[in-house]
Amino acid sequence: MRSGYNLRQVSSLSSFSGSSNSGKGTNSESTSGRFSFYPGIVCLTSGAFIYYINRDQFTAFAADDDDAPVKKSHLREFLDEQAALLKKKLANMTLPEHVPYVIIGGGTAAYYAALTIRAFDPCSKVLIISDERETPYNRPPLSKELWLYGTPTAYKTLDYMSISGKKRDIRYESDGFFLNPGALQEFEHGAISLIRNTMAIELDPTSKEVTLDSGKKVKFDKCLIATGGKPTIPYPFYTPHLRNKVMTYNTTSDYQKLCHIAHESASILIFGDSILAPELAYSLSSKFEKKLKVVYALTTDRPFEKAIPKVVSDPIERALRTSGVEIHPGSKPISVDKLPNGKVSVIFETNGKRETVIVDYIVVADKFEPSVKIAKSAGIAVDEKIGGIIADSKLQTSAADIYVAGDVAAYEDPLFGRVRVSKWENAQITGRLAGQNMTGNIKEFHHRPAFTSTFGHEVHISGVGQTDNSLKTVSVFAPITKENPESRGVVFYVKDNKVVGVLLLNVFGIGIELARKIISDNKEIKDFKELAKLFDLYQPQNENEPEHEPESKFKPESESQPEPNPAMEALAEVEKVKPTVGAPPS
Ligand SMILES: Cc1cc2nc3c(=O)[nH]c(=O)nc-3n(C[C@H](O)[C@H](O)[C@H](O)COP(=O)(O)OP(=O)(O)OC[C@H]3O[C@@H](n4cnc5c(N)ncnc54)[C@H](O)[C@@H]3O)c2cc1C
Repeated sequence: MRSGYNLRQVSSLSSFSGSSNSGKGTNSESTSGRFSFYPGIVCLTSGAFIYYINRDQFTAFAADDDDAPVKKSHLREFLDEQAALLKKKLANMTLPEHVPYVIIGGGTAAYYAALTIRAFDPCSKVLIISDERETPYNRPPLSKELWLYGTPTAYKTLDYMSISGKKRDIRYESDGFFLNPGALQEFEHGAISLIRNTMAIELDPTSKEVTLDSGKKVKFDKCLIATGGKPTIPYPFYTPHLRNKVMTYNTTSDYQKLCHIAHESASILIFGDSILAPELAYSLSSKFEKKLKVVYALTTDRPFEKAIPKVVSDPIERALRTSGVEIHPGSKPISVDKLPNGKVSVIFETNGKRETVIVDYIVVADKFEPSVKIAKSAGIAVDEKIGGIIADSKLQTSAADIYVAGDVAAYEDPLFGRVRVSKWENAQITGRLAGQNMTGNIKEFHHRPAFTSTFGHEVHISGVGQTDNSLKTVSVFAPITKENPESRGVVFYVKDNKVVGVLLLNVFGIGIELARKIISDNKEIKDFKELAKLFDLYQPQNENEPEHEPESKFKPESESQPEPNPAMEALAEVEKVKPTVGAPPS
């Protein structure tokens, strides 16, 4: 594990608690620190898990045949019955009145916090409350690996083949890892318990009690808020009559729904200025090739323009075009209408001209909003400017014994002030640290999380610090040669001659660690070319798999040699104004 608070240091405690690893050995090295419970419990609990089957969500899941999603009408009656039955089960489920550690939200931060609580407090009882139907899972593959390297049944099994040929499940654990909440009290050595399809709607910091949407209440000693964020739908896509024609993209249900839609559609528009939009456009176009026309519209001139300079967005655009994506930059949506033939028509304003795009379906992948509602209503301090729940250096909120981690946490960066980072590594590391601190083993947070994004084989970007393209940037790229056919370079984001952020294009190994060190050193830099020599700009790709995303071997059949990149020469310096402080854009 490259960074942070390694669970291995405490894994011996887990064996003391009598637990065994029941993880699937899925997505991260930290499986060495997983804490489960006696194998017999798997049998005891597996029948007791509650699924609420939402018919729409299961559209793509409702398959008789393993190879293709089928129409939902095939199983409508069955699903109706199941939904009613399982809703009833959820209502009747017994919950303990009191659980020492309660976690609101069931994503990456929640999962790693739960593991770490068990590591530091081996007999602890932990309850995760999640409004999703899946057990905690890894979100990044939803826009990349599941489409590009998914197994033939990925739309229902949620797995893909990694570069090493191993099958990877995006879920961190199998169902049996989590104990039925009703059984938690009986377990002397504790366990991690999960309640799904359940929203925590109220939090009382004084009585230390959480209220669930079922009306049930659970008391706690320590609570973690790890509610992440939700995608928003901007005007004009947000209108009731478009409900069946527009979706956002965030969960496994969204992935399954989009699998179904993509199979049934001839054209899809992906709209948005986030990095998610081009990722999804690339993945859909590569997977379905000529069977699906993918249009990618963005309001800025280049993909992810807020964060990355042209030298890095150029290879992304090339990869998108090579995979067949039709790109519409600088396109402001004006209106959307449903046509009598079932298609949707979107009018964009592009360079002062009106342009109409007609497609079967629209995916909006634009902004994310942190889910702060429960904290706000509990009177916990929230940062109105950057969004997110305010945390101190121990990730504690303004309320005693209530902590925060992941996308929703707004904490102090020693150099940049208060930041909120909507990235996977941040969720994992803040989750771990919050978990540790909740057990009383207090440690301050001083990590600067990194992020990655990939476009198949051609483009791998990783960044750390303030990767804000409104800052001055200095880019140093290796020349493209026969031996080094890929764009490879480093971008320094500079404020007062100091490096505040670093972006790496197709640079692997210890690049990100170096970048972190350069930012933390906070020194004035005179010779960026010299600094760039620290990075491996001339080495072939490292075949090691990154922690949560495999390097791809995937090459779309249509892939041609990359076009020459004018930025390769050596040093390209771009002066910008308006330096800003805040989280790296998401
Ligand atoms: C498609 C996609 C691709 C991504 N790719 C990358 C990538 O390549 N690299 C990268 O660094 N990051 C990527 N990210 C971002 C990364 O996945 C997130 O930063 C990370 O998942 C945040 O984890 P979290 O635990 O804070 O929040 P989440 O993963 O959002 O989990 C929060 C959970 O809490 C639930 N919840 C919210 N409120 C309540 C409540 N009141 N009661 C019960 N449950 C509640 C939510 O439904 C959700 O399940 C991607 C995100 C998406 C959606």
